Amino acid sequence: MEYLNINKEVSIKHHPRLISVYLGRNKILSNLDITPGLFQVKNSKENYSGDVRPCSEMILNMALKIYSILKPFKKILMFLKNYIYFSNNLLGTQYSNLFIKKNKDQFNIYSKNKKNTLKILKGKQIKIYKFLRNKKLVYPFYKNFFPGIGSDYHYFGTIPLGNNKLSVNKNCQLNNNKSIYLIDGSVFNFKKNLYPFVFVMANAKRIAKILNK
Ligand SMILES: Cc1cc2nc3c(=O)[nH]c(=O)nc-3n(C[C@H](O)[C@H](O)[C@H](O)COP(=O)(O)OP(=O)(O)OC[C@H]3O[C@@H](n4cnc5c(N)ncnc54)[C@H](O)[C@@H]3O)c2cc1C
Repeated sequence: MEYLNINKEVSIKHHPRLISVYLGRNKILSNLDITPGLFQVKNSKENYSGDVRPCSEMILNMALKIYSILKPFKKILMFLKNYIYFSNNLLGTQYSNLFIKKNKDQFNIYSKNKKNTLKILKGKQIKIYKFLRNKKLVYPFYKNFFPGIGSDYHYFGTIPLGNNKLSVNKNCQLNNNKSIYLIDGSVFNFKKNLYPFVFVMANAKRIAKILNK
């Protein structure tokens, strides 16, 4: 950022996230610390998704740290562990609400009107919940946990493909300085795809091949 000498507010694209916990009607067995999402409920038109993954001892311990009031029920929760499902509800990039701006000697990262983002997240989560209910996968209650804007870990799109100063060309070279290659999530705008990881890796591999020539 110092090198780019940017003093105006820069919007960081990301997928705001709401975590939901459901009680499933069936057991899901897994011996992983964190099992990846087993399936996703996705609405491409409205640009949101929710995955479903089973709970684990590690996740349960994290939850007990956040909701210490539940600590006396740890044994019961451990017993029910395989029936507890977690879901990450993610929104598309049009709901991004993270900004970075230089303020004297430091960079501030902030969001605006957090309540509105939370309201949108809850609205989409209800639809995912209704889908799970219709499929008779979960019992009729859930608990939402909002970790805050910026804790979704899906940041990207600050230096995307384009023609201006703060963008890259097809080979991911910074337009202002072709000897700088950007190969992380910042060159993408994951409007439709809400899961950036594999694309970031595949693109990095593509650029590595170009550099190797
Ligand atoms: C808990 C969690 C769960 C996630 N789940 C999913 C998922 O299910 N599906 C999905 O698609 N995506 C998921 N993501 C998002 C995905 O991991 C990120 O979008 C992706 O890793 C971004 O890649 P990146 O290369 O842009 O950044 P990163 O992977 O964050 O890489 C940045 C690297 O730079 C290094 N670094 C930072 N500062 C310096 C420095 N000053 N000097 C040298 N090195 C430095 C860091 O150590 C790090 O290795 C998840 C992320 C988290 C944290």
